[in-house]
Amino acid sequence: MGLSNQAAFETANRFFPGGVNSPVRAFKSVGGVPPFIDRGEGGYIYDIENNRYIDFVQSWGPLILGHAYPAVIEAVVRTARKGLSFGAPTTLENELAELILSVYDFLEKLRFVSTGTEAVMTALRLARGVTGRSDIVKFRGCYHGHSDSLLAEAGSGAATFGAPSSPGVPLDLAKHTLIAEYNDAAGAEKLFAERGGEIACVAIEPIAGNMGLVPAEESFLRGLRALCDRYGAILIFDEVMSGFRAAKNGACGFTRVRPDIVTLGKVIGGGLPVAAIGGKQAVMDHLSPIGKIYQAGTLSGNPVAMAAGIATLRTIIDTPNLYETLGARAAKLVRGFKEAANDRGVALETAFRGSMFGFFFNEKPVRNFDDALASDSARFVKFHSAMLKKGVYLAPSQFETGFISIAVNDEMIDETIAAARSAY
Ligand SMILES: *Cc1c(COP(=O)(O)O)cnc(C)c1O
Repeated sequence: MGLSNQAAFETANRFFPGGVNSPVRAFKSVGGVPPFIDRGEGGYIYDIENNRYIDFVQSWGPLILGHAYPAVIEAVVRTARKGLSFGAPTTLENELAELILSVYDFLEKLRFVSTGTEAVMTALRLARGVTGRSDIVKFRGCYHGHSDSLLAEAGSGAATFGAPSSPGVPLDLAKHTLIAEYNDAAGAEKLFAERGGEIACVAIEPIAGNMGLVPAEESFLRGLRALCDRYGAILIFDEVMSGFRAAKNGACGFTRVRPDIVTLGKVIGGGLPVAAIGGKQAVMDHLSPIGKIYQAGTLSGNPVAMAAGIATLRTIIDTPNLYETLGARAAKLVRGFKEAANDRGVALETAFRGSMFGFFFNEKPVRNFDDALASDSARFVKFHSAMLKKGVYLAPSQFETGFISIAVNDEMIDETIAAARSAY
């Protein structure tokens, strides 16, 4: 018998705050000890006690092809043999950019960075630099990484000034983050009416995945586009999660609204750290070295990470009906969850967009953060731990999105639904 999860977690707690290097991994909101993962194979992960789980987290989204997908691993190994990093241009960057722009065809130029946080942070700087304005609009419940400006949240109401939601974010900075309600077109309109001349940009998850899965309504997105056009603000779609996940072209597969800037991450790195900012040339060329807006990164465009992204996107692009197949599995899964819950007299609200799915223990449709927060957390905790015991690895929070990979087949979906039948 090797090391137990419990022992590993105790050791980790000596080294890291909360025993982890990113907060949600600690399972704080569901209690218990997080499994320490030894390896992944296709749709499964195995912990260090050799328990096997069907994985619906997939490293929080990147692994749409499942764990250790042969073409990705081969590309990584082949590239690594040639050296890990040069801090100089490689043609791999061109290759990945070409793949991304073949799908996001309304974008003209990209810049690669290493994390989604960096991508959105850069998008804001770009928007502020281009417009010469300071304020940004974000929506309650949307997550855009942990950069200072974006960790601000309102106390209440649409037009209040942002108060920092984390100590360490100066008020002087947070006051430039204006908070609005998701899916509330009138609220956004009011905010612009009051402060439109100072708003550099609107940043939104067009398919919100960080308050649970809450898609934006088409009319709401259209309204934001119109407001940005009327007031000369830049519209940013943060598709770090939804890009190449909800559809090939993310939220743009579900709406005809087109933003000025898109941020991507997660899937485009296939499990290694890659993220990107994309936009029209006229906007993007404001970035250094030809523009004045500074941005840089020692490991940006890292060759090994590019190789993982290229192998992943090639496979995605070459697989016919990929998102339809994944969407059918997601639909089947949430339908199964809902039926199982309802049979027990438990209310469940569900949603899916391509390979993304979500469920809330809630009697009412969830359109915004308040709706999401009104869900029954105690029930989620019970469900989560029962599913984990049955070998189903779900995100340890009701306010996260679940993901289907191509390696999670119909049988595994059936198995998961069967597990759910006795987990409520
Ligand atoms: C994950 C995520 C981020 C942050 O990406 P990191 O790589 O974790 O920094 C930003 N925006 C959205 C929508 C995300 O889902």
